[in-house]
Amino acid sequence: MTIKFGSDFKKTIGITEDKTVINLTDKKIDFFSLEKFQKDIVAGDSCFICGASPSEKEFNNEHILPNWILRRFNLHEDEITLPNNTSIRYGRFTIPCCVECNNQLGREIEIPVSELTSKGYDNLKNYVIKNGPGLLFRWLCLLFIKTHLKDTLLRFYLDRREPDYKIADLFEWESLHHIHCVARSFYNQCFITGEVLGSLLILPSIEIDSPGNFDYGDMYGGKALFIRMNDITLICILNDSCAALNSFQSEFEKISGPLSPLQIREIFARLVYVNMNLKERPTYYSEFNDKNECFIKAKLPNKIELLEPLQYKFGDIFSFMCSRIIEESSFEDKEYVAQKIIEGVWTFLFNEKGEFIKN
Ligand SMILES: [Zn+2]
Repeated sequence: MTIKFGSDFKKTIGITEDKTVINLTDKKIDFFSLEKFQKDIVAGDSCFICGASPSEKEFNNEHILPNWILRRFNLHEDEITLPNNTSIRYGRFTIPCCVECNNQLGREIEIPVSELTSKGYDNLKNYVIKNGPGLLFRWLCLLFIKTHLKDTLLRFYLDRREPDYKIADLFEWESLHHIHCVARSFYNQCFITGEVLGSLLILPSIEIDSPGNFDYGDMYGGKALFIRMNDITLICILNDSCAALNSFQSEFEKISGPLSPLQIREIFARLVYVNMNLKERPTYYSEFNDKNECFIKAKLPNKIELLEPLQYKFGDIFSFMCSRIIEESSFEDKEYVAQKIIEGVWTFLFNEKGEFIKN
């Protein structure tokens, strides 16, 4: 994520040596340079939205899964499994955030999303048809960046005799920097242009009795996440400018009923597979016009093409997403199914005639 400026930008905004943009009127950071993002937010303990240090402002920290989800699905005592295969309680899963940003985040993002998702799939679908997917896309970027910023605090090796590597030491931060810019755009009023929006699917899912009515999964490499709340499932690729959705469109149109957990994971894997194998990727930048208004924009490749040879196999991604459910399932032939998934020739979505398998 880089920056561009209009002709008289210097009048009311300041630019630091590392290319961080500061609004001189309200002193807000309009744009974090990659360097400042890594220093203050990834490696430091600054508020992940405004960048204030805990010595400057009151902090109350932000739950990674927002409190309304923890309450609605009774998850405070439940655990999330982390990439180092350890678990942490959702209720303790927080990152540094100041009170002021936390309140604004609640007002402008969390309360509207909480209300929208409380009224079921049809209501949410109608809202998005009328208002566009911007609110949900920002919210999903927030969830993803919060989850992966937390990884900066977590040890890769739990044995304290081993080196103190953090899970996030393995990350490449430039692409997360873009997702961070979108996630905090409610704060600096930066406008997200249409081509920045990633593949976002809002799908009906079968309702499973509590506690199974909530599910969350993400994949760092695919810059993707899914979340299932009762009869609503959101699947999103955050950095593909809809390339994966365009490739999946004809299959997507055949889906004609609510999805099972394995079907959701298959769609997720199919989209991630495209995103991870894109030959040319969109590039993103923030642009300030002459009125110092900020826009996050994208430069798109001319064609959607996959790498040759492919760098990531579909079966590996599909298996990564499904293996635990298959193992715990009561399928009689689960070893056979698991093998076919790894080979990339299995589908939970369509029968031999290519028709959607209804649950
Ligand atoms: Zn803040």
